[in-house]
Amino acid sequence: MNLKENALKVLEARYLARNEKGELIETPEEMFWRVARAIALAEKNYDEKADVEQIAKEFYTLMTELDFLPNTPTLVNAGRPLGQLSACFVLPVGDSMEEIFDAVKFSALIHKSGGGTGFSFSRLRSKGSRVRSTGGVASGPVSFMKVFNAATEAVKQGGVRRGANMGVLRCDHPDILEFITAKEDNKDITNFNISVALTEKFMKALEEDGEYELIEPSTGEIVKKLKAREVFDKIAQNAWRNGEPGIIFIDRINEGNMVPDLGQIESTNPCGEQPLLPYESCNLGSVNLANMVKGQEIDWEHLEKTVKLAVRFLDNVIDVNHYPLKEIENMTKKTRKIGLGVMGFADMLIKLNVPYDSEEALQIADKVMEFINDKSKEASAELAKIRGTFSAWEKSLWAKRGLKLRNATTTTIAPTGSISIIAGVSSGIEPIFALAFKRHILDRKDIVEVHEIFEQHAKDNGYYSEKLMEEVAKTGRVSGVTGVPKEAQRLFVTALDISPEWHVRMQAVFQKHTDNAVSKTINMPNSATVKDVKESYLLAYKLGCKGLTVYRDGSREEQVLNAGLTE
Ligand code: UDP
Repeated sequence: MNLKENALKVLEARYLARNEKGELIETPEEMFWRVARAIALAEKNYDEKADVEQIAKEFYTLMTELDFLPNTPTLVNAGRPLGQLSACFVLPVGDSMEEIFDAVKFSALIHKSGGGTGFSFSRLRSKGSRVRSTGGVASGPVSFMKVFNAATEAVKQGGVRRGANMGVLRCDHPDILEFITAKEDNKDITNFNISVALTEKFMKALEEDGEYELIEPSTGEIVKKLKAREVFDKIAQNAWRNGEPGIIFIDRINEGNMVPDLGQIESTNPCGEQPLLPYESCNLGSVNLANMVKGQEIDWEHLEKTVKLAVRFLDNVIDVNHYPLKEIENMTKKTRKIGLGVMGFADMLIKLNVPYDSEEALQIADKVMEFINDKSKEASAELAKIRGTFSAWEKSLWAKRGLKLRNATTTTIAPTGSISIIAGVSSGIEPIFALAFKRHILDRKDIVEVHEIFEQHAKDNGYYSEKLMEEVAKTGRVSGVTGVPKEAQRLFVTALDISPEWHVRMQAVFQKHTDNAVSKTINMPNSATVKDVKESYLLAYKLGCKGLTVYRDGSREEQVLNAGLTE
């Protein structure tokens, strides 16, 4: 296999099986065989005579060619005793002690198995409201989030992954102002990303510079009115300070709910790309677009084959998965959601000689994602013919459209934080973050990387020198660096050279052809203003995004990625 050094490091640290003494007992190739065989076993459910070994071989090649990789829990747990294969879960949090602490317990079980959990805290009665059984007063959503946070801290996902949570609160919850500032201090609720769920009513009030109502969830009473603009400003100010909270457009997310009969969507998974119903889980996987270029053209045939086999793989995962709870198994099998996305998009653009922040790049994104979405639907329809539709299909919006599918959703753009390192390509749909950078991996040693395609380009075009590379490594960027030709400065544009507007436009193009949502960070330079943040939010709303996360460079002491090398 053609694995880069960093890929090997990550695989050894977190993916390859070890014995009781902690010694490695598999090679990367053996890991991929373990996964391929475990996932291919599902074929037996539909055809007793299925050639499982043959399909396992196809899955093996799909992964070892690095054309497609499933999400981390599948790579780590398939064919092993834990057997939990999904990255994304959403759990309900009801307004009673039993329900709250059930959710704490369930999330601990999920974290242990490598999954991330999302919760809406919007059903909890507000801080200071009455508790009838005790005569006391309620402590409210934010104080309960701290309980979930502490439980996550203790579990730490068995060393495979840090526990990740998403906490959502509706903008019309009486505790919304406390929630917006809940992560003001970076040391609080560290195992959570938080998002404010903005409603259409809110967006309308904002446009008209009017007020909107806060509603006590336990009684349905209107308890107060707030100026939408003031709340919006407060969200933007906090996001400007340290990237939290994010926002999601909850009514728009529910417009995309293909099975409204099963309930309303209230939350997403931790990184925001996967809205789910309470108790639903979803497994993700990503096509490596850097591998889909032949010469200077997109290899559509190869892409189609890859997408179709990947959909089959992800559908199989649902059958062989070991679910942490019966409720989750039932709900997941009703909708059979899968989330196929992409990684290596920025690398693909470079291979096609197209800068990320250009109209041409938007057109490529539009064509590629539309193609993937269409082919994934074709594949899901082909599976439905043999395996049947997902069981809630008859009451779904797909039935109204007359499209028989095996899966209620097929596409999601994941961050691919770890699997893109294994594939050795740019993550998700993000631009290259830096041409040289330092990466923190859990509590292990930092990894230093210099971008390979850039180095190759410099050699091929005669501008390579060690001195120049050292120069580039100082900031991670080539923009304005003498000695780097102008076309190369344009082509190797990095996340911080790209204006927030272009980041949002790219997210919106991918969202257009994605059933679920799109993971994307709107990177801003340190000098960006609160007004810039607000403009990004409004643009994202206008262009049809389902949510937005901004991050201003340097606004947190500890960043996952640092542009440039640090001593
Ligand atoms: N996730 C998690 N813990 C982590 C990283 C990710 O629980 O430390 C979950 C979370 O739901 C996230 C999803 O996995 O939204 C996908 O993340 P990513 O694509 O980065 O995962 P990968 O498969 O690359 O590890």
